[in-house]
Amino acid sequence: MNHQKKLLNITRQNRIKIGFQNPQNWKEAPALFEEHSLKILNHPVMEDWETDYMKELAEIATSKGGTILEVGYGMGISAGFIQKSNIQNHIVIEANHEVVEKANKEKYSHPFQIIEGFWQEAVTNISNESIDGILFDTYPLSELEIHKNHFEFFKTAFEKLKKGGILTYYSDEISDFSEEHLQELLDAGFKKENIKKKIIPVNPPENCQYWKSKTILAPIITK
Ligand code: SAH
Repeated sequence: MNHQKKLLNITRQNRIKIGFQNPQNWKEAPALFEEHSLKILNHPVMEDWETDYMKELAEIATSKGGTILEVGYGMGISAGFIQKSNIQNHIVIEANHEVVEKANKEKYSHPFQIIEGFWQEAVTNISNESIDGILFDTYPLSELEIHKNHFEFFKTAFEKLKKGGILTYYSDEISDFSEEHLQELLDAGFKKENIKKKIIPVNPPENCQYWKSKTILAPIITK
């Protein structure tokens, strides 16, 4: 097993140990916000060592301005960076009710709309070819989705983006797209020459359950 696969196996086992409930339970589950992290149903959903990475993802997603779709609000770190950029509109889809309540208390300078629900259901509210930039960062809600929760979104991203629009997301990759990952992007309709990346240095604490590397890939995918 190569190094990357070994690391992914550790984080996979960590998540299996925590355990998965019926995904429907996620919506009403308490969101445990602490100073540096957010936990839902015991899962480490977000930690603030990701801040620099979130800033990069927000810069990529907003590089064309316009209407930005963000999937997964979490601690609102990426949302804060999106709001500081030169955009016209910010739409968020978020599944957890308490996270939605927290988001609605924020005062943002650009128009901000949050749609509550799983993206798989809520995305019907978004017209095709209406979005300039997407930042996707959810969390696997079942064992099957571990390290793959972004893959099932790619086709939807392709539909919702305007031509020339940009998709970025929490990649779960250290420094390059895996073959499977690349194939999923191609199958969704993105062209190879429009699939680019930036490698971002990160410094997760030793005891972080879901990231064990010193870099993480930021995808730059143009439709
Ligand atoms: N980028 C955020 C972190 C997102 S954490 C930040 O900077 O803080 C992941 C979020 O995705 C959580 O709030 C979780 O409730 C939400 N989520 C998980 N699965 C989802 C789904 N299928 N649809 C919408 N939101 C989802």
